[in-house]
Amino acid sequence: MEKFVNSDFKLGIITGGQLGKMLIQEASKWDLTSYVLDTAEDCPAGKLASKVFIGDYKDYDAVYNFGKQVDILTFEIEHVNIQAVKQLKAEGHKIIPDPDILELIQDKGLQKEFYQNHNLPTSPFQLYESKEKIIEAIDSGKITQAFVQKSRKGGYDGRGVAVISDLNNHEEILNGPSLVEEKVDIDKEIAVIVARNQQGQVKCYPVVEMTFDPKANLVDKLICPAQISQEQTNQAIVLATKIAELLDMQGLLAVEIFVDKKGQLQINEVAPRPHNSGHHTIESVVTSQFEQHLRAVLNLPLGSTELKLPSVMINIVGNPGYTGPVKYQGLEECLAIDGVKIHLYGKKITKPYRKMGHSTILAKSLEQALTNSEKVKNLIKVIS
Ligand code: ADP
Repeated sequence: MEKFVNSDFKLGIITGGQLGKMLIQEASKWDLTSYVLDTAEDCPAGKLASKVFIGDYKDYDAVYNFGKQVDILTFEIEHVNIQAVKQLKAEGHKIIPDPDILELIQDKGLQKEFYQNHNLPTSPFQLYESKEKIIEAIDSGKITQAFVQKSRKGGYDGRGVAVISDLNNHEEILNGPSLVEEKVDIDKEIAVIVARNQQGQVKCYPVVEMTFDPKANLVDKLICPAQISQEQTNQAIVLATKIAELLDMQGLLAVEIFVDKKGQLQINEVAPRPHNSGHHTIESVVTSQFEQHLRAVLNLPLGSTELKLPSVMINIVGNPGYTGPVKYQGLEECLAIDGVKIHLYGKKITKPYRKMGHSTILAKSLEQALTNSEKVKNLIKVIS
């Protein structure tokens, strides 16, 4: 480890959002120098990074030139210019996760084929080149049931996902290459973050349950541990570990899974990086996902993922009706409640439902954490 613990070691992070910021907070404990590539100097990670390089993660030159400046390149977003990272790898630069993994995960169609090829449970699907081909399949009776359509590339936070319930209404069908999958009768949405280092050591985080706010299309609450059976918990951990091993993953892999109404698990998608479903680990788990990512990236021993206390995480999002320089209300009242932790990302401008921060609410029992999380949710206002 000695070789890493000196300020000359440069960790490169693409991009500088809140996940990058929280990663740098951990990296600074080991005195690592952190460089960030982002389009904005005042991005959430901007104040903490040793240096912000201005550039777009989708731009070849920006990513390539950034990668040349750092000792290890890692990501808070997977949709990075793939040619640039492949070229960097070919030139001997250390990229984590591997560009081949990024390429697979960037394309939801390839991801689904990966699950299918390895007999991993996921809802049945078909790939389509265009909206027109989907309409043809509906007209010819090949598609007969309500379905979920996902753009193969570029989707994020529910963008690029369309639930098509009425087959006669073609307006909502997305353009471009996509996959069409069976709509799962979802009982719960859960996630497991698994960490793996180069030596193949694996650690899984406690399974979390995510509830969604349909208006914001964002996670409403993240509940840890998930309220599912022990058998389902074990199955989720086995699945996540298997995927990380099949991918020969180094770093973190967040695995999102549906539990259907019959109690069966179906893989939704994975993300090869620190993930929103692990925000709570900063306070509620012995080793946070960010420290774990660093350990995995640097091929150090992985830390304990034991849960210290049950927790609920809620996003702090812009209240609808306000766009402009941000003001927070109710923080003081929230902090007066035992076990409430507040993270503000430092975004200057609020917009309806924009993720501006999060709160993790810890308590001795999950019931208490849930009750307190409702109080926090009602107290915090993000306005302009
Ligand atoms: P994103 O990558 O944008 O987060 P997801 O693939 O996670 O997109 O889909 C967003 C949400 O859409 C999921 O959290 C889930 O609520 C719903 N969803 C996705 N796929 C299905 C499906 N096959 N059946 C039912 N609901 C789905």
